Amino acid sequence: MIFSAAREQPSAMSDFDTFECSSCGESFKAYPDANAAQTEACSPACETA
Ligand SMILES: [Zn+2]
Repeated sequence: MIFSAAREQPSAMSDFDTFECSSCGESFKAYPDANAAQTEACSPACETA
């Protein structure tokens, strides 16, 4: 059995949602309950813009 190898796949990011940055319009992925999702900013620079 080699099922444990699948856990290393970066594509297993089903918990992430795609958001659009309210500052620069860039699409980015973040956890729905993450800071970035709530501020709708793709980076700290956009967050303070
Ligand atoms: Zn941005």
